[in-house]
Amino acid sequence: MGYTEKIVDKVYKIKADSNLYFLDFDEKMVIDTGSDSNKDIVKRELGKLVELKEIKKIIFTHLHYDHIGNYDLFPNAKFFASLSEIEDFKKDPVGTTVSEEKVDVDLKLLGKMKEFEIIDTPGHTRGSICLFFLKEKILFSGDTLFYKGFGRIDLPTSVPEEMKGSLDKLKKLEYKVLCPGHEY
Ligand SMILES: [Zn+2]
Repeated sequence: MGYTEKIVDKVYKIKADSNLYFLDFDEKMVIDTGSDSNKDIVKRELGKLVELKEIKKIIFTHLHYDHIGNYDLFPNAKFFASLSEIEDFKKDPVGTTVSEEKVDVDLKLLGKMKEFEIIDTPGHTRGSICLFFLKEKILFSGDTLFYKGFGRIDLPTSVPEEMKGSLDKLKKLEYKVLCPGHEY
């Protein structure tokens, strides 16, 4: 279970319950970190590509447990999410992450980035974001858009009435490759 796929030069996908993406840029970064139950896979597969302590930046598309597990594998990273997502997490960490236990990760507000357009896509969660990698036209779509559909909108911090607007926003992007949070 779990393996690595090269998407384009310097961009890798690792399937670990949910997908995580490693970006081998000058500043090494990861988008989402899989679920805690897949810790061994993340350690092994990502460890083949990079020393985990070299990763400086982790961006969460949203804060569900299956996207934020394994944050403890990255001793030198800072962790980023959107403002709404951080607000909901501070109010109710268990409900926001849909996990059994409180997750103790120190989150920072994601600011503008030179490599990516950051797109607010409320729906699956209120603070869900997608990242559009401008150079290669790759869309990292979290649990907003999948290959064959879109993410659930019946979860504690979902905003179902906003999903359609978010999907419409993504439709307008001329992406070449879709990199969703799950393989369906
Ligand atoms: Zn999710």
